[in-house]
Amino acid sequence: MELTLWTYEGPPHVGAMRIAASMEGLHYVLHAPQGDTYADLLFTMIERRDRRPPVTYTTFQARDLGGDTAELVKRSIQQAVDRFQPEALLVGESCTAELIQDQPGALAGGMNLGVPVVNLELPAYSKKENWGAAETLYQLCRTLLREQLPAPGTPRPSPDRWRAEGRRPRVNLLGPSLLGFRCRDDIKEIRGLLGEHGIDVNVVAPMGARPADLVRLPEADANVCLYPEVAGPLCSWLERQFGTPVVRTVPIGVGATRRFLAELSTVLDLEAPEANEADLRSRMPWYSRSVDSTYLTGKRVFIFADATHAIAAARIAADELGFTVVGLGTYSRELAREVRAAAKELGLEALITDDYLAVEKAMGEAAPELVLGTQMERHSAKRLGIPCAVISAPLHVQDVPARYAPQMGWEGANVIFDSWVHPLMMGLEEHLIGMFRHDFEFVEGHRSHLAEGAPPRQAAAHEPDVAAVAGSSMAAAANGTAAAGATATLAPPTVTEGTAVWSADGEAALRKIPFFVRGKVKTNTETFARDHGVAAITEEVLYDAKAHYSK
Ligand code: SF4
Repeated sequence: MELTLWTYEGPPHVGAMRIAASMEGLHYVLHAPQGDTYADLLFTMIERRDRRPPVTYTTFQARDLGGDTAELVKRSIQQAVDRFQPEALLVGESCTAELIQDQPGALAGGMNLGVPVVNLELPAYSKKENWGAAETLYQLCRTLLREQLPAPGTPRPSPDRWRAEGRRPRVNLLGPSLLGFRCRDDIKEIRGLLGEHGIDVNVVAPMGARPADLVRLPEADANVCLYPEVAGPLCSWLERQFGTPVVRTVPIGVGATRRFLAELSTVLDLEAPEANEADLRSRMPWYSRSVDSTYLTGKRVFIFADATHAIAAARIAADELGFTVVGLGTYSRELAREVRAAAKELGLEALITDDYLAVEKAMGEAAPELVLGTQMERHSAKRLGIPCAVISAPLHVQDVPARYAPQMGWEGANVIFDSWVHPLMMGLEEHLIGMFRHDFEFVEGHRSHLAEGAPPRQAAAHEPDVAAVAGSSMAAAANGTAAAGATATLAPPTVTEGTAVWSADGEAALRKIPFFVRGKVKTNTETFARDHGVAAITEEVLYDAKAHYSK
């Protein structure tokens, strides 16, 4: 048992639903209890689809368990095939159905339905949504391509066979799906990018593909693995069975897009792309070099996302924006190794967990100035008062925007620059608030470009001053709360057991530190005091600690 409040991923059958709903001409019969139809809302509300997902639920109830549930499964399968006439059928179970062991896939296999049937075995108690999506896509392709498998020993087609055949090279774009992060616009962006380099798209899958399209997968000269969480196993299998090379660089960020094009040109034996293409095609390189971005240098950023977006974000943050990455992690256990390697390059230890409280704790300890995460980190960052941008699923409805908002390619880099910088305080305001701390409106933590009011903590700290001006300090003194009022004005750091006590001059010195790095300075100073057996933190101790950590 694991006490769970929020989960980053749904059960694996939701991953299978994502594949079915992303495609056309495919239907999914899901053996599931009454109530599991809640998953429809992910597609009709978050993705705002104009139709129900192509899923037939058996929706068994308690009273059905006394009867023949297998018969119910068979009836549902037959009705779904008769009504929707799909080109291929997925059959599987949800968590509860897995316990009653009706083997719906095997039942469907014996029904002579006249369409390819894929029996999904998704262990709901050990695997999750992305694994379910990847397994479903892989099993579906395996079933549909069974007859095309080359005999052992057949020579691999050369990736530059396009030249001999007198046509442009063509690739498959694999992995984009509904409920993935910005997949709709990423496909458009990458399709355009490939077109400019003389490369055609053979099949995009699963998004928008039909089973008949999947049958054409081996016709591509290379597979582009855009979302390894969903397409990784399929790409590896196609490489093993059909010899199709895989382009694994995910083109999120200017540097990654450059590397992606270079990898493609090597694989397809094309001319190398122009070295200055990024500067010509994306505004991000110039924006991040322009002097207004100087204040971004060294900003402390904490990243937690699916593996693909976490790795991409860490590279952009460190190499393209000059941020300091102070935390990197993922909930994608299948790709933990890749995230660990990326974290190691940055001198960090990756956080691999699906417990959002562990992420929130690590976030608090790292005391970042910006959080890049999922919808969960948006909530945690809000609680901690840290600016945040969402970079990965799980997502809410606002991350399926009406406007064009890719993450990949040149335009994706522009979108990323804007959306990551937006939550931060602008340079001039940061500078002025650091210099003049007593403004009644532009108080610490205030970000006027977001039209937000004073943050609650600062408002509370400000109130006693106003009360004093209004003469109510006498009333406070009369009922013995003057000292409490004075303390509220100072907003002292909380003292937890085992930490040193802050003296008044230590607190005053701490308050001079700009608010967005104050949390980090406070933690560092307390650690320093503890390590050096200091009982009271004075101004001098704070500066000793500062000198110690900047060595
Ligand atoms: S079967 Fe699984 S997904 Fe459906 S309601 Fe039960 S626990 Fe949730």
